[in-house]
Amino acid sequence: MAKMTRNDVLPEVVEYLAGGPLPGVIGGQKVASANQETFTTCDPGSRETLAEVYAMQPADVDRAVQAAQQAFDKSGWPQLSPNDRGVLLHRLADAVEQRKKSLAQIEALDCGKVYAQAEADVQNFVDTTRYFTDMALHIQHRSALAVARHEAWTVRAPWGPCGFIFPWNFPILLAGWGLAPALAAGNTVVIKPAEDTPLSTIYLALLAKEVGIPDGVINVVPGLGDPAGAALAGHPGLKRMSFTGSPEVGRLVGEACGRNLVPAKLELGGKGAAVVFDDVDLPQTVEKLVQAITFHCGQVCCDATRWLIHKPIYDQFVSACVERLQKVVVGYQMDRRTQMGPVVSEKQRQRVLGYLKRGQEEGAELVLPGGAAEVDGRDGFYVKPALLAGSLDNVAAREEIFGPVAYLTPFADEAEGIRLANQTDYGLANSVWSSDWDRCYRVAEAMVAANNWINAHNLFPLGVPYAGMNKSGLGGGVLSVHTLFDYWRSTSVVRPL
Ligand code: NAD
Repeated sequence: MAKMTRNDVLPEVVEYLAGGPLPGVIGGQKVASANQETFTTCDPGSRETLAEVYAMQPADVDRAVQAAQQAFDKSGWPQLSPNDRGVLLHRLADAVEQRKKSLAQIEALDCGKVYAQAEADVQNFVDTTRYFTDMALHIQHRSALAVARHEAWTVRAPWGPCGFIFPWNFPILLAGWGLAPALAAGNTVVIKPAEDTPLSTIYLALLAKEVGIPDGVINVVPGLGDPAGAALAGHPGLKRMSFTGSPEVGRLVGEACGRNLVPAKLELGGKGAAVVFDDVDLPQTVEKLVQAITFHCGQVCCDATRWLIHKPIYDQFVSACVERLQKVVVGYQMDRRTQMGPVVSEKQRQRVLGYLKRGQEEGAELVLPGGAAEVDGRDGFYVKPALLAGSLDNVAAREEIFGPVAYLTPFADEAEGIRLANQTDYGLANSVWSSDWDRCYRVAEAMVAANNWINAHNLFPLGVPYAGMNKSGLGGGVLSVHTLFDYWRSTSVVRPL
């Protein structure tokens, strides 16, 4: 099979990366930061610098929110009919699809994401944008109300500037999940991408200008969490805020928005369970769970990181997992043979290794040791998949590791499987695995999380709401018709008859 290397990077991508420092995009203009400060983004698979990027400051963020307000007031964007707005959003989706290879390379290089997965993320942006754009065409904006002695109706209208703060694991995919409904509803946006992975978001904003989306409708403020993210979260000019990231930062964002009475949607971390019964197709289940935990090197909020295994198959299941995980090809993300790339940064690698050590110190059995991985000729942030086993009181079973590490625990019966699945502060995503449908339905509905899957993990069909509860988030979630409704305010109009 062909080996894709950095040498295969498209000329357009090379040119984009060399055009640094890469700018913020405010009011349709490429801008430097107020104090000219920059930060570096690097390739996690090689540690090579990809680009310098201007680090936006609070004054820049303030300009971006003002630009979003001005575009809302003066560009005509909110007043466009959904159809006319849809033409422009479809053009954006088409342009992203046409540049899929370039954007996928940018995303793979910046995130350390295996190239094929990066391409799927770009396609996901395209699909989500088309989905919400078309959905907005079919929603009634004026609804008559049947009330006594009055004529009354409600009107749906966009809010104004909406803020978005994103993490580093799925930059372009999450941009689609967030921006598509906000823009389709007629709002304007200010986006703060993660400092580890700002490149695809800046590219996207420049592409939006190229296809004719009015200046100021999409603004991007690359920069550090504090000051750029904090300035956006605390900006009183926003009408909505959407944050995706860790519960620790989510709390800060929620507090800042609360002070300004800006509604905040928080999409946070997880510690999902896979509850595996003794009647599963064992090789197939092992394969799917191994794919889940190694997908983007386990840096997936809704991953199955606690594997709860029915006692009769526990030993057999564990040895099959060990055997399969040892075969996972860890390598450079642009090499087509690679099944698992690097984690995003040295900080993240130390976090993964630290949890393996702390888990063991608290008494977990190290079933598959994991640890740092060497990849020929690449000085990147590589780790091997690992398996721990033991009590769910262990730190490695309680806290989100965000790496290719699963924690195994046996259970005796259905009631215990459900109890263990629910023994967590998080509430994002779980799965149940069995060939007994009745049992699948019972367990899926008894697990306390916003998303529960059957004989699969990580499923996101468009139209199914995806959200978090408890420590995993609040505020409504993404990907469904309700998400679109979130981006309209509802106003009632009444006159006596
Ligand atoms: P993070 O919370 O460290 O950072 C997220 C974003 O917040 C970044 O853009 C960062 O710059 C910004 N930020 C940092 N400090 C800030 C501050 N004081 N004020 C405002 N913004 C600030 O998270 P991360 O390490 O980038 O991402 C990993 C986390 O994201 C994991 O917990 C993961 O589970 C979660 N996540 C959740 C979902 C979901 O849909 N629920 C999706 C992806 C990732």
